[in-house]
Parts: sequence; C-alpha cells; structure tokens
Amino acid sequence: MKVVFISLDTARVDHFGCYGHPFDTSPNVDKVAGQGVQFQRCYASDVPTPPEYTAIFSGRLGIHTGIFGFEGQGAYHPGPPMLQEILARAGWRTGAISNLFYTCPWLMRGWQDITPPGLRFQGGTAPEVTDEAIRWLKNHGENDLFLFVHYWEPHQPYVKAPENHRKLFPTNSYKRIAPDMRFINTNPIMKTFYEYYHAKGEGDPKMPSEEVLARYDSQIHFADQEVGRLVDYLDQSGLGDEALLIVTSDHGEAFGEYGFIDHYTCYESISHVPLILRLPGKFPAGSSVDGFIYGADLMPTILDLAGVDIPSAIDGESFLPAILEGKSTPRDFIVTDCNALVTQRMMVRNQWALVHTIHPGPQTHIKPYELFDLKGDLESDLSGEHPKKLQEMQAELAGWLAAQLGGGPDPLQQAAQQGGWMLSHPAFIHSMLAHLDLVRGNKLLWETLRRRYGPGLELLGSGGAQEPEWARGMAK
Ligand SMILES: [Zn+2]
Repeated sequence: MKVVFISLDTARVDHFGCYGHPFDTSPNVDKVAGQGVQFQRCYASDVPTPPEYTAIFSGRLGIHTGIFGFEGQGAYHPGPPMLQEILARAGWRTGAISNLFYTCPWLMRGWQDITPPGLRFQGGTAPEVTDEAIRWLKNHGENDLFLFVHYWEPHQPYVKAPENHRKLFPTNSYKRIAPDMRFINTNPIMKTFYEYYHAKGEGDPKMPSEEVLARYDSQIHFADQEVGRLVDYLDQSGLGDEALLIVTSDHGEAFGEYGFIDHYTCYESISHVPLILRLPGKFPAGSSVDGFIYGADLMPTILDLAGVDIPSAIDGESFLPAILEGKSTPRDFIVTDCNALVTQRMMVRNQWALVHTIHPGPQTHIKPYELFDLKGDLESDLSGEHPKKLQEMQAELAGWLAAQLGGGPDPLQQAAQQGGWMLSHPAFIHSMLAHLDLVRGNKLLWETLRRRYGPGLELLGSGGAQEPEWARGMAK
C-alpha cells in the first residue's frame, strides 16, 4: 500500500473553494475533494505547529505527550511508537520532505529518508518541496511507502507566492470579508504587535487586513498549484490508482478577528482544519463526512486501512468505518489545547464552542469562559445569553479533563505559569517595550513575565521604549 500525506501548513479551512471560500484559491485541492472524501469537522487537538504534528504522528493528544506550543520538548515522553516508525517496522519505506525537524527533533524517529527542502526551519518553497517529493517517489514507487510532504505555504509572512499568483487576488476585493480589527485597534500592545509582525519581509507596518488576506490567498493558490503538480505525477505514473492521498493542515490562521493574528490561539478559525482523503476504487468519490475527528485520528485510520496493528496506548481512533460503512465518527465533541500567545482549551460540541482561557497573555477583552455559536458571529461571546449551555459545557469539559488526567496535574495549567511561547518572541518583546506602563499595569501579565525573565525585568525603566539591540531584526 502507498500513502502520500500532504500538509499545507497554516491552511485555514474556509479559505479553500471546496470549503466555501468565495475566491478561486484551490482548484487542484477542490478537484481532489471531488475524487475523494471531504471531512467537514476535522480539528487540531493541539495548536500550533509542533504539538499538532506530534499529535498527528503519535496519535496522542498534547495533554499526554507534554508538547504544548513551541515548548515542552524536554517533557516529551517517547511513549508508543509513532506512525512512521510502525510502518517502517512493517517493511514500508518511510520518507519526509520537511524541515520541521529542526525544531521538532523528537519527530525524526521512524523516517528512513528525511529531505529538508531548505536548510532552515520554514526554508524552501512549494516547487522545491514538490520536486523532492517526485524525486523520492521515483526512487521508491515500487514499495509499500509512506511519504510526508510538508509545504510551508501559506504560512506567514505570506511572501513566497510569485507575482502571477498575487495578481489573481486584488486587495480591494477583500474589503467585504476583512475583519473590522476593533479588538486589535483598541489594544495598544496588540496593535503594535500587528504592525511589527506584518512589517517583517514586506516593510509595510500599516498593512491593512484586506492586504494580508489577499497575500494569504495567493500563498494558498501557489501551494495548490504545487499540490496539483504532485497529484498529476501520481496519476500519470499510475501510483495514484493505489495510493491513499491525504490533504490536510496542522492549524488555520487569524487575520485580526477577535484580536488575534497568526495562529497563537485555539478559536475556531485556528483549530478547524481541512481534511480530504482520496483512495480510488475504495473510498466513495465526491463524498462528505460531517462528524468530528482529530488530526490525531489519522494515525490509527491509516494503520487500520493498512491492516497493521494499532497501539492501544494512544488517543486517536480509526474513522475508517465512517468512510466505508457510513457509520458515525468516533467523536461527539473535540477539545483543542493551545499555549502560544494565550493559554486556552476549547471544546466544540454540535454548533457550540466553549473556550476556557487559562492565561489571556496581552489580551484584555477575553473572559475566562466564553461561548460561541459556530453558525453565528465568531466575534460574539454568548456566555451571558446562554448561561445554561455555558454551565452544561463547563461540566462536560471538566468531566473530560478529569478522565484524561486520572487525578494527575493538568500540564496546560502548569505551562500557563510561564505564559505562552509568544511572550518571548521578538515581536512581542518589541510591543511590550513600546507599552511598558500598560504591561506593568497588567498584574497577571507582569507577574508571568517576571517568572519567565526573572527579576532582571524590573531593570527596565518605566518610560523605556528602547528595543534591545539583540532583538532588532530577529522576527522572521
Ligand atoms: Zn503550522
């Protein structure tokens, strides 16, 4: 059997044509969706990149692997073997076209071939990734194989797409879908953060959100073209007839909605991801599955399909019966954890999302518990209007957590003591120094930063808006 696993890093689900985007960003992915099974409610269990890929390949949730945000590596417990390791032991050839391993060395286990398309984290372009993937398939196409193809488009700073892709998405056409940015514009720290962040690579600190959206979509279109080239190779070589083709992402993206940019939170726009599976002659073409699944469910599903034993000590469950027999997916709800700019846990059941914010980072408009109607406005907390629903979901989340922890401590609560990794990012340090009085006035934030940086933080003068020399030009 052959499995080609494509991930478009940072691909927000509702920016694909097949998921309802109003612009033609993804003709090739849409075509694959028409030939395969499209999943409507696939969620990352852990945000952002390192914890979710860890969940995908290990089949385990971050609450059990110890990987949160970009931190926790030291706490990672090897646990049962990962997907690629199990397949390699079963005689498969395993290959990864990715430079993810520069920051996630614990994910290197089990790959017989690792080809980084660039010589640094996020290096390389989509055409280079496709070239390497085709080269690897030409060398190993006759074997049972598992190939991980990791594109860094559309990840920020949204500058890799050539001009022929950029001009397809004119900025002025995005005015009608761009967020109004009210939560960014009323928070000076976040406004500075936004301007500093988007200035990198393009030199335009005042970039409006519609320009950001247009650039992001051009990145999706660029990656989609390369997915199309890889799928064409599979189909023309005959590999496509027998290969399970997977197209997904590790998390989505925010463009200013509800006060967030990038992917350092776990609200719906970040944790809901695209997922398409194609297996000609076996999976029903043009079909759709509505039930909840995790990215972490892919591991046991692939093993189930391959007829390889699934480790018992994992959290993921095979959803193969949902594809082949029309049965329900294994989940009634999902829970997503995040420790980045904020520390949060979200539960989604039916149309409702309960978000528990353990640490709000620099955000000032977020309540500890919020309730959103996913069929309504994603910037409106409805916890005040629906107190019974709020209590019901709080109890469900508490019950789920108790079952997961078995009496032990909650690692996300422990991680929140230091705040999220973004609090040490040069862009945040720049923003903090520009508004030091506000930071000092935010008791929780200031205490967290003191824990992270030690008493040396006190040496910063109350009026000192000077960016330290070492921080200049560091944000990428
Ligand atoms: Zn990512």
